Amino acid sequence: MLTRLPGKGLSEAAAVKLAPLAEKALAVGWTLDGLRAYLVRNCDTERVRYAPAVYEMHLRELPGPPAPRSERAAAAGMCERHPAFMAGDCLRCLREERDRQQQQPEDGLRPVDGMGLLARLQAQRAATTAGGVR
Ligand SMILES: [Zn+2]
Repeated sequence: MLTRLPGKGLSEAAAVKLAPLAEKALAVGWTLDGLRAYLVRNCDTERVRYAPAVYEMHLRELPGPPAPRSERAAAAGMCERHPAFMAGDCLRCLREERDRQQQQPEDGLRPVDGMGLLARLQAQRAATTAGGVR
């Protein structure tokens, strides 16, 4: 993403130099898109002679990541399980959630469907009974 930033002087070497700063930003909750948008917004690429220096400055003075999506913003503290991340925008929780969804595309965390369960059990018993007759 760094080499794709606009501006003069953004060689691969410059991007390599910026990479650790960008990684640090990602570790505290910035997204690639968010970080990129922030840098582009704060760098006047038309006038700046050497954009990497400006990007570096902004990366060093980066504020906290943008507020997480509003419905999750209520929990303002840090993640209970991963104190290094903001609650509601915890990369590790998000990843775990994604993994969980991939492993259990269906029932996952749905509350128990009593009627559905009963129907399923009855159907099962019916099938077993029918099988026993044979
Ligand atoms: Zn977490």
